[in-house]
Amino acid sequence: MKIVFLGTGSSIPTKKRNQPSIALKYRGDVLLFDCGEGTQRQMIYTDISPMKVKYIFISHLHGDHILGISGLLQSMGLNKRTTPIYIYGPPETEEIMKCIMKLGFHTTFDVYIQEVPTDKPQCVLDEESYQVYSYPMKHSVPTLGYIFKEKKKPQLDIKRAIDLGVKIGPDLRRLKEGYPVISRSGKKIYPEEVLLPPKRGISVAYSGDTLPVKGFGEFIRSLDCKILIHEATFDSTKREHAIETMHSTVEDAINIGCVAKVEKLILTHISARYEEEGEDYLKEVETLRKEKDIDVIVAEDFMEYPVKIV
Ligand SMILES: [Zn+2]
Repeated sequence: MKIVFLGTGSSIPTKKRNQPSIALKYRGDVLLFDCGEGTQRQMIYTDISPMKVKYIFISHLHGDHILGISGLLQSMGLNKRTTPIYIYGPPETEEIMKCIMKLGFHTTFDVYIQEVPTDKPQCVLDEESYQVYSYPMKHSVPTLGYIFKEKKKPQLDIKRAIDLGVKIGPDLRRLKEGYPVISRSGKKIYPEEVLLPPKRGISVAYSGDTLPVKGFGEFIRSLDCKILIHEATFDSTKREHAIETMHSTVEDAINIGCVAKVEKLILTHISARYEEEGEDYLKEVETLRKEKDIDVIVAEDFMEYPVKIV
């Protein structure tokens, strides 16, 4: 599993940072969080294939977070994709997507849209081995944060199972799935006899554009989240502007990271103004990293963050 940062800028792209998009590669699936203009071109420089994108999660309906969807879908059609794609977003996503689909390109696959209410957190996707939750954030339009959560995986004490006479093969899988099996000597073996406490599973949260929301930090802590990708558009000297535009500062994001007690905080959605004058920003990250004792880094385009599946 890995996280690939396709775009780490904010509304205006710069030479170094494209508009927001983050890909999460989990086994065969690619989950895309936001899809700014030019996201498909950014993918060319990575090993993220547009054809493998199964889900797109839109944080909010501002252009810099969705303008890449039309081009991406068009290319998928030209490459004769047949597998469906699922797009999640706040209310009115369907209306916007209908407009995009009117652009005259030919889709060879189904596009399913699911609008997610922004009044309460909820589980929006339940796959066999992972779930995705949404959380209402605070921006100038309805906005959602998302949390990818791998399901806890049962662990089998194989040595004990074999000692109890369980046959090597499908019976081990059946025990793991919670079913009893019959041992070589004809004795019934129950899963409780051979299962160890389940593995924790990996969990990654993404804030979208937002003012700091303490409840989000508490929520992801309750989900035992290990990695938080939080927007930090400005440094604290621009706090007034951050409040006015409903964005977070470096300090805001770090405070949420502390509430959430994550192992790694990754800052993204960096304002275009830091292309030339980024020192204040990095200085603040460095100072607060030491002061608050938090493992924090600033994302860059094409940065890949490998996540060890535990
Ligand atoms: Zn934005």
